[in-house]
Amino acid sequence: MPPSRFELRTRPVSRDFFDTNGGNRARKCWHNAEMPSDVPTEPCATATPTVPPEMIAGAPVRPIVRTIPETPLVDVMGGSARWTIPVHEHGFVALCDAMPRLVPEGKTADFAIVQAARVSYGDGTKHVNEDRGLVRYLLRHRHTTPLEMVEFKFHIAMPIFIARQWIRHRTANVNECSARYSIMPDRFYRPSVASVRKQSKSNRQGSDGTIEVGTAEQFLELLADAEAHYAKYLNLIEQGVARELARAALPVSLYTEWYWKCDLHNIFHFLSLRMDDHAQLEIQDFARAMFALIKPIVPMACEAFEDYRLHAMQLTALEIAALKSGQPLATENSRERAEWDAKRAQLGL
Ligand SMILES: Cc1cc2nc3c(=O)[nH]c(=O)nc-3n(C[C@H](O)[C@H](O)[C@H](O)COP(=O)(O)OP(=O)(O)OC[C@H]3O[C@@H](n4cnc5c(N)ncnc54)[C@H](O)[C@@H]3O)c2cc1C
Repeated sequence: MPPSRFELRTRPVSRDFFDTNGGNRARKCWHNAEMPSDVPTEPCATATPTVPPEMIAGAPVRPIVRTIPETPLVDVMGGSARWTIPVHEHGFVALCDAMPRLVPEGKTADFAIVQAARVSYGDGTKHVNEDRGLVRYLLRHRHTTPLEMVEFKFHIAMPIFIARQWIRHRTANVNECSARYSIMPDRFYRPSVASVRKQSKSNRQGSDGTIEVGTAEQFLELLADAEAHYAKYLNLIEQGVARELARAALPVSLYTEWYWKCDLHNIFHFLSLRMDDHAQLEIQDFARAMFALIKPIVPMACEAFEDYRLHAMQLTALEIAALKSGQPLATENSRERAEWDAKRAQLGL
């Protein structure tokens, strides 16, 4: 066994030595081993005299180094203040900002994903088609942190019953309008007669087709009754009832608004759940609007998301076994069997 050795690295003895010799090889102290011939031979005890002041801990902050971009930068939102997609009668999803907002000419904001990933994978690939391959690899292999380097900020107006589902997505930063501070505007969600849906028989959480016109009209009258509380709400606020209490009389069809900022990885998680058929139709409409807003900004990531997540399917171990053997799914669970039937239908089996 060769003798073990370790080195103590000290600060360079002078700036000149640092610049020309690459810094921390400037002075080494070798213990328990033969000293290599190329190492300066002063003893450690003398290694202190001329340390540059800026390298001493606690020294003042050094000046900013500003780097000029190699290619001109362009705005991913084309100079717009916001991009808005109206949803239903009163709702909207508005994209207010993006990070990165500025990207090298000829690139999209996918650039930031690739840039972050190359910290791990090295320079290797540099062309646009190679960027696409890298983004697709990341999505396929759930290497998600590079996707967190892209962020979007939205301004959204939606009914409170949708906001309650939305807020369950905890990784976003949210600031909602305060019904304690402000008087809520007179905006309510009211579907058309033709879009009042029937309760689903197979899915207790879902709806299934439209209901007959007479029943739909009765439902819309009920909504109108609930909206009629608004005038009383205003009246009682004028009489001095605190807004924070008065709002308790308003229905969940009332619209609220918030700013919602989230990174791309978690937006994809949100979209995969809320663009799915199992999500409530109204929140699907908002999610689809959000996807339409980000798609031109991160087209490569969105394409990969559609290919590997949104329109992809996950097979369970039981399903793979059934597929291999040609036998029925080895479970008595009727819901699991129904899910397997749906997947087989989707696969054309
Ligand atoms: C079709 C559908 C039906 C639903 N039905 C119901 C229902 O009946 N009742 C109900 O209450 N909810 C229901 N939900 C909400 C659902 O349970 C989730 O709360 C919601 O979809 C948010 O998902 P998430 O926690 O994965 O997302 P996010 O909150 O965005 O979190 C993203 C990921 O971050 C991680 N994470 C975030 N915060 C934490 C934390 N505190 N601890 C550990 N990990 C964390 C998790 O890995 C999580 O998947 C439903 C959702 C859908 C889509």
